[in-house]
Amino acid sequence: LSKSLQAVRGMNDTLPQQTPFWQYLEQVLRDTVTRYGYQEIRFPLIEYTALFKRTIGETTDIVEKEMYTFLDRNEDSLTLRPEGTAGCVRAGIEHGLLYNQVQRLWYKGPMFRHERPQKGRYRQFYQFGVEVFGLPGPDIDAELLLMTASLWQALGLKQQLQLQINSLGTPASRANYRKTLVAYFEQHKALLDEESACRLAVNPLRILDSKEPQLQQLIANAPQMSEFLDPASRSHFEDLCQQLQTAGISYEINPRLVRGLDYYTMTVFEWVMPILGAQNTVCAGGRYDGLVEQLGGKPTPAVGFALGLERLLALLKDHLRVDSTPHAYLILLGQQAAAQGLLLAEQLRNAVPTLRLLTHCGEGSHKVQFRRADKSEARWALIVGEEELNSDTITLKYLREEQPQQRLPLPELIKWLKGQVT
Ligand code: ATP
Ligand code: MG
Repeated sequence: LSKSLQAVRGMNDTLPQQTPFWQYLEQVLRDTVTRYGYQEIRFPLIEYTALFKRTIGETTDIVEKEMYTFLDRNEDSLTLRPEGTAGCVRAGIEHGLLYNQVQRLWYKGPMFRHERPQKGRYRQFYQFGVEVFGLPGPDIDAELLLMTASLWQALGLKQQLQLQINSLGTPASRANYRKTLVAYFEQHKALLDEESACRLAVNPLRILDSKEPQLQQLIANAPQMSEFLDPASRSHFEDLCQQLQTAGISYEINPRLVRGLDYYTMTVFEWVMPILGAQNTVCAGGRYDGLVEQLGGKPTPAVGFALGLERLLALLKDHLRVDSTPHAYLILLGQQAAAQGLLLAEQLRNAVPTLRLLTHCGEGSHKVQFRRADKSEARWALIVGEEELNSDTITLKYLREEQPQQRLPLPELIKWLKGQVT
């Protein structure tokens, strides 16, 4: 394929062998949050560019260099969504879902960021996210973290994930901290790499996030946000920690956890998976109490998280067995059988709803049909030929086990199948 006809770099196809893993993961996610009373919201993949600039922040990595932004035919500047919170909040305000109400919402779907593609980092990737509106207390922060923990439990990943939390305080206490931090890094300006030197001017908290090895010592010695927390944020955070302890959720307080987006206030958290290497954050979120008002809504407390499905799947695949291979392959020998085959298959599927049945299409010899049946990985071949048609029976042949083949009347076959494929 010439390059211009290939998939766009960093954007992946999910082939049929892989989709069962996705379906499984999506189902566990959906089922789990549904048990906590969360409802799904869907919003467009494209929004006005201004929405992301206003919410995520002009000086963040996403807005500065990762967005897919273009002019549409009306010369409007539009952007493929790089994350879900902005669109969710926009939709909530636009449809009056937020004012004076409690909403527990979830969404999933593709996000787009123009990053350097590598393992765990793609240009179209999938997030599952939740957003809660109208609840200011640490109890809902705790509920979110308990819910994520129960997700890991359901996925068998509990042992591998570690929770890190921090508090960024109110915008006012963060502004105080910011001043002190700028003064500290100014003193050591010669040690900063180019990127961090830029951040010092526009978004100094992000320097704490730097992965640059030579900066780690400087970052470790930097003043910490916790010294600047206002009393209300401090007690909110302590209360959250207390609730996590009571629930038996272990966590680490990471004073350098700042998150890449501007809208966070107070609680921020990440679930990280050390074995994933550099791209090891699987789930990240926090509180963003100012965002709704900033977008023109009434002041509304809010908290949420998003998790990256590719990174979760990378962990799951090793120990997940998801079976979508057909149970049975219907072989139709002769014209008469071929003519009745589709309807017979319908009858079987209606009678045994859990049965995964492939019907042979396109005629072909005995040998050809058996070869297809074998290739399908089905456990059984169900064979209908002239003799079977004349006696209202179907022949059952085991394809993977040493078992004698049997010819069964249709009702008996149905009964047997029901027992096998529950
Ligand atoms: P990172 O530090 O890895 O760049 P981030 O802070 O940009 O992550 P968020 O915006 O918080 O990430 O997104 C939440 C989650 O979405 C991440 O923890 C990660 O699992 C996933 N994610 C983010 N960007 C990508 C990407 N380009 N490809 C795949 N997954 C991603
Ligand atoms: Mg990023």
